Amino acid sequence: MATPLTAAQALTALKAEGCKVVEYRDWRTHNREGHGAWGPVHGVMIHHTVTSGTDSSVALCYDGHASLPGPLCHTVGAKDGRLFMVGWGRANHAGLGDDDVLQAVIDERALPPDNEANTDGNRAFYGIELINLGNGKDPWPEAQVDAAARWAAALCRKHGWSERSVIGHKEWQPGKIDPTFDMGDFRARVRVLLAKTPGSSTPAPTTPKTPTPQQQEESDVPSTLGLYNTTDRPLVPGKWTTMTVDKTDIVTGAKAYTASVMLTIDGASAGGTLQGRFYHQRTDGSRWDSGIVERPTTAGTTFADFPHAGSIAASEKLRFEVAYFPATSGDEKSVTITTSRVRGLYWK
Ligand SMILES: [Zn+2]
Repeated sequence: MATPLTAAQALTALKAEGCKVVEYRDWRTHNREGHGAWGPVHGVMIHHTVTSGTDSSVALCYDGHASLPGPLCHTVGAKDGRLFMVGWGRANHAGLGDDDVLQAVIDERALPPDNEANTDGNRAFYGIELINLGNGKDPWPEAQVDAAARWAAALCRKHGWSERSVIGHKEWQPGKIDPTFDMGDFRARVRVLLAKTPGSSTPAPTTPKTPTPQQQEESDVPSTLGLYNTTDRPLVPGKWTTMTVDKTDIVTGAKAYTASVMLTIDGASAGGTLQGRFYHQRTDGSRWDSGIVERPTTAGTTFADFPHAGSIAASEKLRFEVAYFPATSGDEKSVTITTSRVRGLYWK
């Protein structure tokens, strides 16, 4: 729960975070006042425009259209990384969403499925529209995603929120698909930014690529993470199995880490699926999950790798879990993990 920032406060916070801000027309006073409440605010929401072209997209988000008057967001993120401020105050971006999701954002815990449209989101969320066709093919340039993460981090930092206060429109309103990128990865970026000094020039780690040390802070020397296990372990189809990676507790409290789990699996059928994800186990029993990475199985021996990057609090332990789904239901025989290897880097 928080009082919305003023336009001037937001501008100062964004610039401190290293955002390249462009002030568009009378954005500071352009809003939907008189058409519902603005505040208390609880989080920030990420959208894509389903348009191309910077000028026309910015104009559309400022003006809106016949059935939905502008502003359609507070900020428009261009592909070159510029952030155009098009409104401040209540804006038509979030529509009606799920009250359970809003409560999870307020509590900063894992999001439930968005299966209701019963709550006014325009009152509670800052919104950014990222210029993208939303067809899954239009690329997301690093400059654009980095700018969006900084925009989110700036507002979260100013309010004292964590990355858990950042959601995608698709996580809020049933039927929405924006943005097309993985929100777990995006929140990991925001988390890394929030762990740093505002405006740090260091890019956030990206997934699924494993960043090289040169992409991290050059003045920082990372520590190496490495584990190797050749004990056979059964993997029961359809069940999550946590891998023994206890020694990776050494990354607790890392401001950034990269980790890749590589598994050798024997006995799977061709065309099955391995799902893997990292999670952060907290002392109170709760956990944060990364996005799920899927790998196909092959007959005989399957080699699968699961990369991840993020940051982790001192009170959390890094874990990895894997599940196997056979190609044919009924083919329920257990398979065997014959080797597992964890490699990575971490920055304290
Ligand atoms: Zn949207």
